[in-house]
Amino acid sequence: MNYYIITFGCQMNHSDSERIASVLEKAKYKKAPKIEGADLIVVNMCSIRRSAVDKVHGVVAKFKKLQTKNYKLKTVLTGCILKKDRKKFAEKFDLIFDIKDLPNWLKSLKNTKNYFKIKPKYQNKFSACIPIMTGCNNFCSYCVVPYTRDREFSRPAKDILNEIRNLIKHGYKEVWLLGQNVNSYKSKIQNPNYSKSNLKSKCQNQKFKIINFAKLLKMVNDIPGDFWIRFTSSHPKDFSAQLINSMAKCEKNTPYLNLPFQSGDDKILKKMNRNYTVKEYKKLIKKIRKKNPDITLSTDIIVGFPGETKKQFENTVKLFKEIKFDMAYISRYSPRPETSALKLKDNVSLREKKKRKEILNNILKKIALEKNKKYIGKIVNVLVEKQKNEFLIGKSRHYKTVKFESNKNLIGKFVKVKITDALSWGLKGKLIQKK
Ligand code: SF4
Repeated sequence: MNYYIITFGCQMNHSDSERIASVLEKAKYKKAPKIEGADLIVVNMCSIRRSAVDKVHGVVAKFKKLQTKNYKLKTVLTGCILKKDRKKFAEKFDLIFDIKDLPNWLKSLKNTKNYFKIKPKYQNKFSACIPIMTGCNNFCSYCVVPYTRDREFSRPAKDILNEIRNLIKHGYKEVWLLGQNVNSYKSKIQNPNYSKSNLKSKCQNQKFKIINFAKLLKMVNDIPGDFWIRFTSSHPKDFSAQLINSMAKCEKNTPYLNLPFQSGDDKILKKMNRNYTVKEYKKLIKKIRKKNPDITLSTDIIVGFPGETKKQFENTVKLFKEIKFDMAYISRYSPRPETSALKLKDNVSLREKKKRKEILNNILKKIALEKNKKYIGKIVNVLVEKQKNEFLIGKSRHYKTVKFESNKNLIGKFVKVKITDALSWGLKGKLIQKK
């Protein structure tokens, strides 16, 4: 039997798909190279954006055609699914299950209740996604994650470190530490210095040590090997001074950070239930840049949140110009079932939302180009990801897309590239040498 997985959503969904593939292969399924060759199609979806839900409808239409040729074809839906979407798709799929029920799925794994215990089937041979926590307690008013993924749950540090150690041993060059809010990661680890007889100081002699994200980052950094660390997503309200220091001190941590601000207007931020103000966000960026002067920053913004006036949008533009981000992921607000923002009137027209998004995109294009030009003449380290015609394409430590000509097989390798040209969305260069 052959399986085929279709993933819609963020890196966390892609990481979940690696676990789904692992469960299927334990059950003796083989990966089909194309959807047409599958006996089982798994759609791993995300209810966060309406566009992702629309894509699932498109896939369902494709099943129907395939089922006329392969009557044994079974279809499964999983991922971050809202109750409402679950009902909508109930008749269109043979089975729908929550991602957290994956261990029980197909009954292929015994004696484990924990989704994190499933060894993923890594889809990439040099860069791996490592979920460190899942779920969220923040209830931003527009977001479905607390409903689809439940409350926060942090994975034990020991398991994370073992997984990474093993990957590095097998030549992996990059690890992405993933979570809905990595900044609120918290787990316990056995204190190696603990001794029952040592009664000197209760604080210094705890049986368990608490590991927060700043400490976890340091522990990952201490794993021997030549590799890069990246992480996402971060919530500004939980970004500690300790983490800022840790980022600066950990040489394997790459100088790139995605820090969503969502809106540059305090009233909208309040309505979004983001729990920080524009002033606090700016102060945080200042602190991060002070300790990590060459960091590249990206952000997430929602335009056209219910009630967002032109003046309030101008505040977003102001903040956007002031911070000068290297990249931004800008989305138009769309009401999602079960979220508290659903009660607010979605009164910014689609036309206006599109216009606001375009305004920000045009600003981004200019600023990103300005920033990228600064790399011309410099030599940067690049992790090569893919080949396209006569070009190799990869990412620099600063998470800039770098393209250069080469016919060598360097995918998954670190190389040095001299930057010769800059575009808004990337850099062009000349291969100097393998790192
Ligand atoms: S922090 Fe807010 S936006 Fe991020 S996952 Fe949690 S609820 Fe959603």
